[in-house]
Amino acid sequence: MDLPVITVPQADPGAAYRAQQAAIDAAIARVLNSGWYILGSEGAAFEQEFAEWLGLSRAVGCANGTDALVLALRGLGIGPGATVVTVSHTAVATVAAIEMAGATPLLLDIDPDTYTMDADELRAVLEDPPPGLPPIRAVIPVHLYGQACDLEPMLAACRAAGVAVIEDCAQAHGATLNGRMLGTLGDVAAFSLYPTKNLAALGDGGIVATGDADLADRMAAIRQYGWKRRYLSDMVGVNSRLDELQAAVLRVRLPLLAEGNTRRQAIAAAYDAALAGGPLAPPVRRPGAVHVFHQYVVRSRDREEMMARLRAQGVATAIHYPLPVHLQEAYQGRIALGPAACTETEAASREVLSLPIHPELTDAQVETVCAALRLAAG
Ligand SMILES: *Cc1c(COP(=O)(O)O)cnc(C)c1O
Repeated sequence: MDLPVITVPQADPGAAYRAQQAAIDAAIARVLNSGWYILGSEGAAFEQEFAEWLGLSRAVGCANGTDALVLALRGLGIGPGATVVTVSHTAVATVAAIEMAGATPLLLDIDPDTYTMDADELRAVLEDPPPGLPPIRAVIPVHLYGQACDLEPMLAACRAAGVAVIEDCAQAHGATLNGRMLGTLGDVAAFSLYPTKNLAALGDGGIVATGDADLADRMAAIRQYGWKRRYLSDMVGVNSRLDELQAAVLRVRLPLLAEGNTRRQAIAAAYDAALAGGPLAPPVRRPGAVHVFHQYVVRSRDREEMMARLRAQGVATAIHYPLPVHLQEAYQGRIALGPAACTETEAASREVLSLPIHPELTDAQVETVCAALRLAAG
């Protein structure tokens, strides 16, 4: 049997490069010719431009989104002897970062409509922490797939409990909740700039942002050996820097982010229309939230069959994520779960399916996906 030809890839970082090739090539040439490749003027300018775009006073570049979470935790002084609450339905990076900082993860279940942390379960564990764990010091809400968590009640519960909030914005660059940018509501926000994220480098990259200047100074020191002055470590740090080439590429792309998000929303609307009346429900939008569609996720009881039918029409799909973190071999049996025991998480992981939604999809490719959806669901 011949394998079908994929005409609509699930992600396409090469198309994103070609769409801005001249500007990116010029930015790279500028850095190559400058002779300065680590922590120079491009990185400083990107940090300032990113902070301004977000509406916060400070941003600190780093090597990737996982390290961004680690810098946030360590900058807040959270490590061994602390529990950090997050979800199991996320990139493994969120949980890995908690353990990299030396803290203990506690994983909660999701709301099955939006796939984000169950705010009621969070309130319950803050009021009545599970026995046998160190004190809860921070919560990492993950704004999954490009849409906000139910953040307002979560923030209120965290403030009341004296617990820090680190927003995982790796999938939510430019998304808002009640008119406010995600990443500005908690104490500090961590962003990934991985090549398929809404704001993407041409390699690894990450950035943390905060309105707290002391915290920003600590995170900036920790990312480079704990230096505040060259060669003198005031604290124990790591090496997690954003290089000048990536910063220069990101400076080309930041002004184009809003346009890219608008294109993602238009593609989402086309998929909503194609799914109308069929068995697959379009993603639920949280009232008051602007979704930036890092992923467009549907649920199917018959996922394998649906993927095969789409593939037969040339449409590639992906699964985010096929196995909850607490069931993966590296974590199974040793990670604490909240009282809901992640039952909605486990159900979602068996049914979720991510359609292609990058901004470089052509209208013809979007129509191919719509036609394939009508056919596959019919
Ligand atoms: C991508 C991602 C990360 C980690 O980012 P890297 O840059 O790959 O280290 C963290 N959290 C979430 C939710 C992500 O999607």
